[in-house]
Amino acid sequence: MSNNPFQQQVDEFMAKIKAKNAGELEFHQAVMEVAESLIPFIEENPKYKHAKILERIAEPERVILFRVPWMDDKGEIHINKGYRIEMNSAIGPYKGGLRFHPTVNLGILKFLAFEQVFKNSLTTLPMGGGKGGSDFDPKGKTDNEVMRFCQSFMMELFRHIGPNTDVPAGDIGVGGREIGFMFGMYRRLKNEFTGVLTGKGLDWGGSLIRPEATGYGQVYFAQEMLATRKTDFKGKIATVSGSGNVAQFATQKATELGAKVVTLSDSEGYVYDPAGIDAEKLAWVMHLKNVKRGRIKEYAQKYKADYVDGKRPWEVKCDIALPSATQNEINGDEAKLLVKNGCYCVSEGANMPSTPEAISVYIDSKILYGPGKAANAGGVATSGLEMSQNSMRMAWSREEVDQKLHTIMVNIHKNCVKWGTEQDGFINYVRGANIGGFVKVADAMIAQGLI
Ligand code: NDP
Repeated sequence: MSNNPFQQQVDEFMAKIKAKNAGELEFHQAVMEVAESLIPFIEENPKYKHAKILERIAEPERVILFRVPWMDDKGEIHINKGYRIEMNSAIGPYKGGLRFHPTVNLGILKFLAFEQVFKNSLTTLPMGGGKGGSDFDPKGKTDNEVMRFCQSFMMELFRHIGPNTDVPAGDIGVGGREIGFMFGMYRRLKNEFTGVLTGKGLDWGGSLIRPEATGYGQVYFAQEMLATRKTDFKGKIATVSGSGNVAQFATQKATELGAKVVTLSDSEGYVYDPAGIDAEKLAWVMHLKNVKRGRIKEYAQKYKADYVDGKRPWEVKCDIALPSATQNEINGDEAKLLVKNGCYCVSEGANMPSTPEAISVYIDSKILYGPGKAANAGGVATSGLEMSQNSMRMAWSREEVDQKLHTIMVNIHKNCVKWGTEQDGFINYVRGANIGGFVKVADAMIAQGLI
């Protein structure tokens, strides 16, 4: 039974969303979570209701869908789908990553683009929201195959993006290698060297700390949440899911701050190392994942740790959980198990890793819960810093970028506290992030007229 006094309005709004976007389950889920926080706020602020901002914000400004043909090393032709969702550009050029994964579909990319609008607004930088990608699976492909795919993908995408229009970045399956291949093709097609993608290599327009930024930011956000309860990472046990970009740097920063990270995972299972994944072991994981492109179970053989096939790490006892793999990777039962085992802080590096049932468990248990759109905003924030450096044609030092990232995460936390603190002092970070992200975009949309 919902305790939202505006449940009927939420239900009516969601019925329209579901009818208009049939079958897009992840998109419904993301919009629902936002609508539950925003509809009560909008009822109290009729200017947003009158301008139908929520209805407008849930409809992409533009959706681009295209064919991506490419040839494998044996000469066989493959055809994938390519997408770019240009969701909202009221406060800046569309900005958001590209995901290459076989599960990619329109509903998943629309959920990601929708979340991105709020996230980018929270960073305080001038960036609109977008997302894109393909159902292409880079796993098991050679470098040459990945290059041919990326070139074909960019051969269509290039006409829709640009440094003042839409600036994509990486996401699942898109790291430095893929960004390099796509940037090279864009540059060739347009005959110009601009900051059209972020996550670039350091020698050709990239920013220091960009690879680290999402995981570091996720940990900085957790640090701020922990500080509200007068504690920190020192001596804490942390569980991390995933073993890709975000998971690697979340592990690194949490360890640096004194925690012991005991798990990592991939789509096949998780490793549990009670001794902790220290800097040396993490360097080995980075080589395994980023160079050898192997599976996490190899860690268990190398370091004599446990490997649990086909499961996720939420059954392991921890103080802090750092989900960093993918959407809906913690369900209601897993959330209950986390809380039962004493976990009191969840900071999301992945986008929407917790199901609605899991989120209810966190909120009802009043644990510290930082939703992805706030906790993982450090990635896109540092992409914003990369764009600034590209525009100025200069590069900041590692310390400067890290300091700016840290300040942005502190400010996002403050904004969540401002909008999310409840009467009993509990900070509802879901509400805080949704309202905090919404206000700036909504005001910009009203100021710019009915467009
Ligand atoms: P990577 O591709 O580097 O790593 C993804 C990791 O998650 C891999 O370990 C992968 O395992 C695992 N994974 C992917 N899909 C699934 C699945 N369906 N089930 C279980 N495990 C899965 O991606 P990132 O680290 O960049 O992204 C991780 C999350 O963080 C995503 O939700 C992304 O949207 C989010 N994010 C990323 C940002 C960035 O800057 N990169 C910014 C903000 C959010 P396997 O190798 O087996 O597929």
